[in-house]
Amino acid sequence: MTKLVQDSRFSWTGEVVSCSSGITWGIAEQANGLMAILLNVPGGILTGRQVKVMGEIVGDDGIIKNSRRMAPILLIPKERVASALIQLEEASLRPACLNGSVRNIVSCPGKGFSKNSRGDTLELAQALDAEFYGTVLPWDFKIGISGCPRNCSGVQCHDIGLMAEPRGKFSLWIGGTESGMNPRHGSLIRKGVTRAQVPVAVRRILELYAEGAEEYREELGKRIRLYHVLDKTGMERFEQAVAKVLAE
Ligand code: SF4
Repeated sequence: MTKLVQDSRFSWTGEVVSCSSGITWGIAEQANGLMAILLNVPGGILTGRQVKVMGEIVGDDGIIKNSRRMAPILLIPKERVASALIQLEEASLRPACLNGSVRNIVSCPGKGFSKNSRGDTLELAQALDAEFYGTVLPWDFKIGISGCPRNCSGVQCHDIGLMAEPRGKFSLWIGGTESGMNPRHGSLIRKGVTRAQVPVAVRRILELYAEGAEEYREELGKRIRLYHVLDKTGMERFEQAVAKVLAE
């Protein structure tokens, strides 16, 4: 069985980000010459202090762009990157992973915010981020969480989607993508996953994804997403493996 490895070590050389694990970190020069620091903000939650620090970094007239996936992007001159990374770390803010790991986890507001919610989606987003941030993977991996079937986070548009069900459980969807030339919806592989079982199931899917990418690498090339692997293996391999690990 593939053992997942986490590696969030990288260094800023003054010109580029250096990282031995193969993860692409969200610190990149833009077409206009400014540097963009894309932050990892699971569920899109920021404290007032973190917002204040971000404001200090870009300055009064500087720009913070929000991404569709809830990750703020700070736009600053290159010579400010090193000090900005220190300020961000002091405010418990980390750069987002772009390629080769789990992307910023998307979640609707969920319980305590939305009257429709059946589950604590933000707590789950933060817990999954704590467990899987910086996990070295074949390519991008996107996770989306919705608190009810209104599905504001579009769970079928992610590699893994989780939709809250009544009584604290979640349905589990895999294999979606909303980006690229061939967007597609993921498929439901399991209902009634308990909150405690969610990270177990996610871990097993990541392992199978990494194994499948390795198995079919010659055929599929470098940028292998989960749906590419599923096209080769079929859903059953994943359904059976998740069922097995949840029964243990
Ligand atoms: S998915 Fe449901 S719980 Fe989440 S914000 Fe939308 S309506 Fe509210």
